[in-house]
Amino acid sequence: MPDFDLIVVGAGHNALITAAYAARAGLRVGVFERRHLVGGAVSTEELVPGYRFDYGGSAHILIRLTPVVEELELSRYGLRYLDLDPMFHCSDGETPWFIHRDAARTADDLERLFPGEGEAYTRFLNDWTPFAEAVSDLFMSAPGPLELGRMALASGKGGDAGARLRRILRPYGEVSREYFREERVRAPLNWMAAQSGPPPTDPISAPFLLWHPLYHRGGVARPRGGSGGLTRALARAIEAHGGQIFTNAPVREILVRGKRAQGVRLEGGDTYTARAVVSGTHVLTTAAALPPEHVPAAAREVRVGNGFGFVLRLALSSPVRYRHHTEPDSRVGMGLLIKNERQLLKGYGEYLAGEPTTDPPLIAMSFSAVDDSLAPPGGEVLWLWAQYYPYELSRGTWDTRAAEARENVLNAFEHYAPGTRDKIVGELVQTPLWLEQHLGLHRGNVMHLEMTTDQMFAFRPWMQASGYRWPGVRGLYLTGASTHPGGGIMGASGRTAARVILSDLTRRAWR
Ligand SMILES: Cc1cc2nc3c(=O)[nH]c(=O)nc-3n(C[C@H](O)[C@H](O)[C@H](O)COP(=O)(O)OP(=O)(O)OC[C@H]3O[C@@H](n4cnc5c(N)ncnc54)[C@H](O)[C@@H]3O)c2cc1C
Repeated sequence: MPDFDLIVVGAGHNALITAAYAARAGLRVGVFERRHLVGGAVSTEELVPGYRFDYGGSAHILIRLTPVVEELELSRYGLRYLDLDPMFHCSDGETPWFIHRDAARTADDLERLFPGEGEAYTRFLNDWTPFAEAVSDLFMSAPGPLELGRMALASGKGGDAGARLRRILRPYGEVSREYFREERVRAPLNWMAAQSGPPPTDPISAPFLLWHPLYHRGGVARPRGGSGGLTRALARAIEAHGGQIFTNAPVREILVRGKRAQGVRLEGGDTYTARAVVSGTHVLTTAAALPPEHVPAAAREVRVGNGFGFVLRLALSSPVRYRHHTEPDSRVGMGLLIKNERQLLKGYGEYLAGEPTTDPPLIAMSFSAVDDSLAPPGGEVLWLWAQYYPYELSRGTWDTRAAEARENVLNAFEHYAPGTRDKIVGELVQTPLWLEQHLGLHRGNVMHLEMTTDQMFAFRPWMQASGYRWPGVRGLYLTGASTHPGGGIMGASGRTAARVILSDLTRRAWR
């Protein structure tokens, strides 16, 4: 008898979700993780005494649009979500405004501050909510080949479907202009859309902006105790159903015999067998673990891009104080801090030339404002996420240029909250190289693969593998950000992969 029914390679949140569904269905599950803790890009540790730092994603948005947390009963295993309201603190440094969970309140505030823009915001939400909901539904199942067309058809009843489709195919920077006259409204909305990677000028990138209405539906939340609260709860759920989790257990090889996955061999040489194997690592890591004859050319041709973001994580002796502060709101929501639209475009231009952005727009997150377990009394954690940062630099290496990038991020934040640098008592600098070395994110891409149309839906990671089954090797499955619907804390990929695996292994339809 094999050691397990299902071996899970990697313990990122998607892989853990697959493992949790499988364990609940009665399969004997073994999870093997390279690092010393579970969670991958959704993990948290006390890196400075008294201060808990997230290693990767911090804002839980997409997962709240899925049934994962309820289906797996994660509150029973210690997960407690804290809702952020306001969800976003938008600012050019002079005129802050807020996106509340309540759309009407947001529109009223906007109307008072920028006459006409509140009405535009409401129109934007009304126009695109059906589309955003249709996309969200498509994210919850295995992708088919005609998703964009289906999205357009599902994007609303009546009106001019052709005009809607044209907008969907446009760059989001242009669509935001069609709705909002005020740059101080457009720039932060564009900056949030840029979080998936593509810049505001990319064709067919509009969906990243048109998704915005769903923030008002699902909200923005934080697990108490840090982002890793989600993956710790998943680990407990797996173990409660008899699953086993091995950390410090890097998988070197996925064993294949007679075109069937047999199990894994770890770096240390130990082997474990299973009826099936699912890999939740980066797809290039999965490919590297397979015998070369089982790796099709398409697997090596995926586009990973050239870096993306840079994070400066700070432990502060006292709370952030914004120049134009409206305490505590400004510290609660995600700070979409951007001076104007040009700032993002200039940063992207520098990135294309192989240079780190000199004056980056920032996402500022100081979640100790809502969670007193993250910092000692009176202290604060502050994460500053900045874009765009190339993995391959035009000159120097990340070892020699990290300090300069850190300075530029801190200088950029001083525009909003002067004096912050004097409060620093500890820090973690995450360059694209750091993300690759520590989290296994190839070339520092936090979404694993570029989130562009050629690699979304049925094209992720490539057509023949988009059904979560590795082509040509029976019993080998994929999950994670390398598969549909891509990166971000969502778990949809983990859930759909579980569905595919369970129907193959148990011959029972998913209920
Ligand atoms: C700095 C940063 C900030 C982010 N911010 C946000 C955010 O605020 N909101 C949001 O929604 N998303 C955010 N993201 C993106 C999001 O966190 C990721 O896209 C997502 O968590 C990926 O999860 P995953 O389960 O697919 O894979 P991963 O988290 O990449 O998990 C893969 C796992 O496989 C393990 N592994 C690798 N090789 C091996 C091996 N040989 N053997 C065994 N195990 C192995 C890795 O250690 C890792 O644990 C951010 C990501 C980063 C890095």
